[in-house]
This record gives sequence, C-alpha cells and structure tokens, in this order.
Amino acid sequence: MSKEYDYVILGAGFAGMCMAIKLKEAGFHNFVILERDKDLGGTWLANSYPGAACDVQSHLYSYSFEPKPDWSRMFGPQLEIWGYMTHCARKYGLYPHFQFETVVNGATFNEQSGKWTINTSKGDYTATVFVSCSGGLSQPAMPDIKGLQDFKGKLFHSARWDHSYDLKDKTVAVIGTGASAIQIVPTIAPTVKQLFLYQRTPAWILPKPDRAMKGFEKKMFATMPFMQRLLRGMLYWRNELFAIGFVSKPGIMKLAQKMATRHINAVIKDETLRKKVTPAYKVGCKRILLSNEYYQALTRANVEVITDSIKEVTSNGIVTANGEERKMDAIILATGFHAADGVVPFAIKGTNGLDLNEAWKNGAEAYLGTSVSGFPNLFLIVGPNTGLGHSSMILMIEAQVHYAMEAIRQMKLNKWKAVDVKPEVQKDYNADIQEQLSHTIWQTGGCVSWYQDKNGKNVTLWPGHTFTFMKRTKTFEPDKYILAK
Ligand code: NAP
Repeated sequence: MSKEYDYVILGAGFAGMCMAIKLKEAGFHNFVILERDKDLGGTWLANSYPGAACDVQSHLYSYSFEPKPDWSRMFGPQLEIWGYMTHCARKYGLYPHFQFETVVNGATFNEQSGKWTINTSKGDYTATVFVSCSGGLSQPAMPDIKGLQDFKGKLFHSARWDHSYDLKDKTVAVIGTGASAIQIVPTIAPTVKQLFLYQRTPAWILPKPDRAMKGFEKKMFATMPFMQRLLRGMLYWRNELFAIGFVSKPGIMKLAQKMATRHINAVIKDETLRKKVTPAYKVGCKRILLSNEYYQALTRANVEVITDSIKEVTSNGIVTANGEERKMDAIILATGFHAADGVVPFAIKGTNGLDLNEAWKNGAEAYLGTSVSGFPNLFLIVGPNTGLGHSSMILMIEAQVHYAMEAIRQMKLNKWKAVDVKPEVQKDYNADIQEQLSHTIWQTGGCVSWYQDKNGKNVTLWPGHTFTFMKRTKTFEPDKYILAK
C-alpha cells in the first residue's frame, strides 16, 4: 500500500528543510521529507571531517527568515551549522515530517492521476508534487586510480569520514587539493606523523577574513536585529562584487590573482614549493578557496606536497609516475563529488516513460534550474545552473523554493492537475544561459573544473548575480507551462 501525501520532499538538507518550512507557512501540512541518512543536515551532516567549516559568511549562509545572532565566528564551523539546522527543524515543527533512513530508488509520474509514485527502501509514496532537494554535492566521487581497491590500510572519502580511526602518529596520504582538502590538511597535519599530499591541480587561495564574533556583537544582534540585517546586507553586496569579476569584468579577477600570489609569497619561502602551489589558470576558473592555515601547513617538516601524477595504489602505498613508492597507513580521498552528472542518482520517469537521465544525456537542463520539460509537478531545488561561485547557496535555495511555492499556490487556486514547462521555453532559456556562460572566467579561464560536465558544458553555475535569479523566480508564469486540468 502506497502512503499518500500532497507533497513529497527528497532530502533533509538546507533545501528540503526550506521547502518544508514554506509549505507549512502556507498551511500545507500533508507532506513527508524522505532522507537516506539517519538525521537531518544533508551536506552538513555528511561532511564532518576535521576542520569542516563554511567558506561563506554565516550571517549570509543562513535562512533570511531565521537569523542566528550568536554565530561563534564569521565563518561558522560544521557542527554549529548543523546545530542551527536542528534549531530550525525544532522551531518550525519539521521533525514529525522526516522519514530518515529511507532511500529513494525511483520516481514515476502517472499522467492519468497526475501523481508521482516514489519508490523507496521503505515502500511506495504517492504525491501530487515531488520536490527533489538531493543536493548538488551529495554523491562522493571515488577516483579512478589503478589498484585503489587493493590498499590494505585505512581508506575513506572526506565526506564519509571514519571518526573511529585515530590518525595520531600515522603516515597519511591526502589525495586532492580542493575546498575540503585545504580544511583537512592544516587540521590533521599537527597530529599525524607524516602527511603526503597528492596534488593534481593547485587552487587559488585567498586569506580567509574569518574571526571570532565578539560578545557585544552577539548581544547587539540579539537586541537590535536590524544591525544583523545591516551586516547581512553588507556581506551580500560585497560578495556580489565578485560576480562582476567572474562574469563580465575580469580586471577584478586580476586584482584577486595579485592578492592570492602575495598570499603564497608571504607564507611560503621555498621557491620550489611556491611554484608547486601556484596555479597555471586564471583565478576564479575553479572555485576560489579561502584559508589562513593551508599554506602554513604545507611548510611543516612532516608535510610533503607531491605533484607527480599517481600511477597506482598498492597494498600499502601509492606509486607515482616517476616510479617512486610512498608507504602509508591511511589514504583520505578529498576528491570531490559528482556535481555535473545530474541531480539525482536514481531513475525519474516523466510523461511517456521519459527518463531524466536520458533527457539529460547531453547535459542537465531545466527552466530556472527548477522545472524540467516532460516532468510535470517535479521541482528541483539546487537544479542545473543554480550553483554559485561567489555567494551563499541559501539565497538561491530560498529563491527556488519561493518559485515552487508560487507554482503550488496557483495549481491549488486554479485546480490544475499538472504543470509542465514547455520544451521551447526550456530550450530558449538554456541557450541564453549557455551564451552568457561562454564569456565567463569559468569557461575561458584555462582550467577543467567540476562546474563542467564531461563535454565541457557548464551545467552547474548561474551566470550572474543572485538578485537577477531572485527577480526571475519571483513569479510563476503559467503561459510558460502546459497546464493539465
Ligand atoms: P573538489 O573541489 O572537486 O576537489 C577535488 C580535488 O581532488 C581536486 O584537487 C582534484 O584535482 C582532486 N582529484 C580528483 N580526482 C583525482 C584523481 N583521480 N587523482 C588526483 N587528484 C584528484 O572537491 P572538494 O574539495 O570536496 O570540494 C567540492 C565543493 O564542495 C567545493 O568546491 C565547494 O563548493 C564545496 N565545499 C564547500 C566547503 C565550504 O567551506 N563551504 C568546504 C568543502 C567543500 P583537479 O583539480 O585536478 O580535478
């Protein structure tokens, strides 16, 4: 027997929770949130590695409608962000709606009934509207390295950290030098005996303008909320300046590149190491990283940066292309996520049995990152081309949730059975997005990044300011949709 709801939300991260809060605010309580993990949090539950923290300021990386006056730092640590999420879940009454440890295996739309059937490890769920909030960075990417499965020591991905394994006095390899690695390396370097850091491509890293929030600031934000709104506004507009550099004024990026180079030179005195960590592509092409400790960690006597490519993994070590083998007790894969492969790791079937993976075989596409033609009553939050290189994803999440709620309200009001974005609307929208992206630093900066799919198409990023996206998602326009009564 299928469990019947009006709305099924997939994912208990920031996006799924935001959708749930807004449904409740609108008086729609007949919904369930399906979550494969045993608790809420999404990426902030999964990424519990040592040193995990946000690289967007917490006063901006939080819901606009639920400010937290007492963030401990400008850039909050993982556990505090997760605590904030549990606070929101309690305050907005979400706990009765969660179905934890429920893995979605597939979802199928029935044209006759106008309903979705969602097949899960705990049986079937039926709903008029299916909202997928599975997260852009939820599928860890395991590197395709020969012999990886033969390693007899400890091996885990940064997003699946094994806290039962003590790294103290161990020889450890970290593969990858992205956003996760630069937080892990300085945190574990003082504890381990020896750290081998395998770098394929260095990242541009700017100093992190982080600091502890002062007692008087926390009190001020609690008693004078407009002061916190003022800070949020300042952070918002400062970050939006970066968007200009990414999209239209690369001159701004030259300035950032100068600052990043100065950062390397200020911390690293050894010329060989300086060369190793200096990228050959333009700043901004890959995600700009922030750290005040990473380069310092690389100068430690027990840390070695290895730039020779990895040839293979043996039962007790890693061999590089030059034939050198280093032995280690543990390998940590800080190798990122399947971000550009599509949004969901299971079959979603729309009208006429159309499979989403098939529809996306030439690259993921949606209208406003939210609706996909041929998939009525499906809303994707953090769908294709909604990612940001410069600011808080929560801004985009709130905009998309607002749009989905507008659609839902109009469906109720007009008694529409189903809404399905017109194929030509989606096509024109994506042609425009790709045209705008073609001029950006992400496409012209001389790098390969996880922003692009295997064909080099950027299917992850929004090519502009967040306020432009907010404007476009403000109203649901029925003329852009096929409406079934
Ligand atoms: P990532 O940025 O994709 O970095 C993966 C790293 O692994 C790269 O250095 C990559 O090298 C390397 N790599 C991948 N496959 C490899 C292989 N086969 N051999 C050698 N090296 C390999 O992943 P991430 O660091 O987990 O970060 C992903 C995203 O998560 C970030 O960009 C950010 O959006 C988010 N994140 C955010 C925070 C935060 O503070 N809010 C923290 C962590 C992560 P190449 O560059 O050569 O591909």
